[in-house]
Amino acid sequence: MTKADSLALYGQVMVPNYAPVSVIPVRGQGARLWDQAGTEYIDFAGGVAVNALGHCHPLLVDALIEQGHRLWHASNVFANEPAIRLAHALTQATFADRVFFANSGAEANEAAFKLARRYGLNTGDDDKYEIVAALNSFHGRSLFTVCVAGQSKYSDGFGPLVSGIRHVPFNDIAALEAVVSSRTCAVVLEPIQGESGVTPAHRAYLERARELCDRHGALLIFDEVQTGMGRLGTLFAYEYFGVVPDVMTLAKAIGCGFPLAAMLTTDAVAQHLGVGSHGSTFGGNPLACAVGEAALRLINQPDVLRGVEERHARLTSALREIGQRHGVFEAVRGIGLLLGCVLAGPWKGRARDVMNRCLEHGVMVLQAGTDVVRLAPSLVIDPAEMDEGLQRMEAALKSLASEQPHPIETTIGESV
Ligand code: PLP
Repeated sequence: MTKADSLALYGQVMVPNYAPVSVIPVRGQGARLWDQAGTEYIDFAGGVAVNALGHCHPLLVDALIEQGHRLWHASNVFANEPAIRLAHALTQATFADRVFFANSGAEANEAAFKLARRYGLNTGDDDKYEIVAALNSFHGRSLFTVCVAGQSKYSDGFGPLVSGIRHVPFNDIAALEAVVSSRTCAVVLEPIQGESGVTPAHRAYLERARELCDRHGALLIFDEVQTGMGRLGTLFAYEYFGVVPDVMTLAKAIGCGFPLAAMLTTDAVAQHLGVGSHGSTFGGNPLACAVGEAALRLINQPDVLRGVEERHARLTSALREIGQRHGVFEAVRGIGLLLGCVLAGPWKGRARDVMNRCLEHGVMVLQAGTDVVRLAPSLVIDPAEMDEGLQRMEAALKSLASEQPHPIETTIGESV
């Protein structure tokens, strides 16, 4: 099928909730993708922070094929070996003792929020049901998760909404102190707000959230759907910040592209989701867990995690130089390989244009809101490929900047 035919059919048969870019990838290998016409791209988007080991990693393909010949699905009426092994490996690698498997970030968060409500019911008075969340956060697209996220653009028109949720500005300690109380069953935070612009939490903010949860008997939930699985150079962001949550949710990179998600928690907290309280037909599916097991083994290696820091240094300094030369970025922020290039002056609001121009020059990037160009490449991208991608990005920005009569002078800020 040609691109034009594919896009025309897409427009005809798909529910119109997405606006895909015009390139249709058909093949991927490592940090490169190819479209229907055979045009090759360097992938700095990583399937929105999913493809942590690039595309079609041979050991992940092996794990999938091997399990594919054994058992695909039997349901949670039965336990299965890959799920048991992956849950064990996750508990060995984290603060957690117990795992609930799901298929997407929204489902992992849904489980976490339902657990929080049960926890509040069982441990507090009748009114211990409030979930405190940050404005501009993102936790998925189910009704509960859009209500928790506090961004009306995701929840408008779907009312009546879930109640009992308090929203506070992110990184504002005083605001958090003002709302967390004995009525709070959980505080939920992204260690880096990814979708809304790659904004890292301040360490002191997360520490204060931990203290407030301890004082008021509330659960601290970290949504690590985007930050988890090595992306910050530690296996999980909570280790980077040195603040241990009670509940952590994972998706995206845990399956490296195969749909898999998990909610992790402690033994004591897990007891509040007893038999029959929650479930999923596909959650913990053997195929997904076999891939997840291989992904965890491959990512949780000192050289892979160290490599994230090295790539961060190389990428951020190059992006700052490029941004400075063409006046397009006013700051480059983020941790590890979750980076946001904040558009300067006249470029504000044009992240989609940058993304499209980059595509025309053979490099895939993402947007995070309209003012931030986001990069979330493979954790093991070859440095030479990274440099090639940067050259393509520079060519794209140069061509955009040449259309701007007076590029703004900018000083490129530090990453946080
Ligand atoms: N939580 C965070 C922090 C995310 O970044 C995302 C997706 O971008 C989600 C949850 C939702 O994940 P999913 O799209 O797999 O439901």
